Amino acid sequence: MIFDVMAILKTDGARIQLEGPLTPPSNLQGEGFVFSEDARFSGELENIGGVLELSVCAEGTFTVPCGRCMKITEQRFSVSVHETLVKEGEEVSDPDEVIPFTGTSIDLDAVIWPNVFLALDTKYLCKADCQGLCDRCGTDLNEGPCNCKDDDIDPRLAGLAKLLQ
Ligand SMILES: [Zn+2]
Ligand SMILES: [Zn+2]
Repeated sequence: MIFDVMAILKTDGARIQLEGPLTPPSNLQGEGFVFSEDARFSGELENIGGVLELSVCAEGTFTVPCGRCMKITEQRFSVSVHETLVKEGEEVSDPDEVIPFTGTSIDLDAVIWPNVFLALDTKYLCKADCQGLCDRCGTDLNEGPCNCKDDDIDPRLAGLAKLLQ
């Protein structure tokens, strides 16, 4: 969503409430993340001494394969975003800490999504106690044990098993 900041750009202390939809990104497909159309943000933008302080909450849902059994699972995200936006060419003490913009419009998707990506976990599970797949036969162990289990005993435990007999 492109937002016009003309109304507060010139007035120190001016603020506007913001809310709206976020356009789902397509560049995380490789990781298996697919964002839904329901992503939204709300919060405010305030002119503090000539720079614009963005403070919003971004929320939505996405699907991702379970990190153990690969079943597609739906997850929610809710991320607080705080960024300082500065008109390109302005002097700032730490350029790495601010996001430059040109003219009077800001692409909020470009500002907000990177914050959402940073807040994502690397692995999501379909349920906390997901049993995963058998690494030998590929059976989904959530649906019951496979036949591999009794075949042989881990060599590290074999000695112990003997002692117990
Ligand atoms: Zn799972
Ligand atoms: Zn198996």
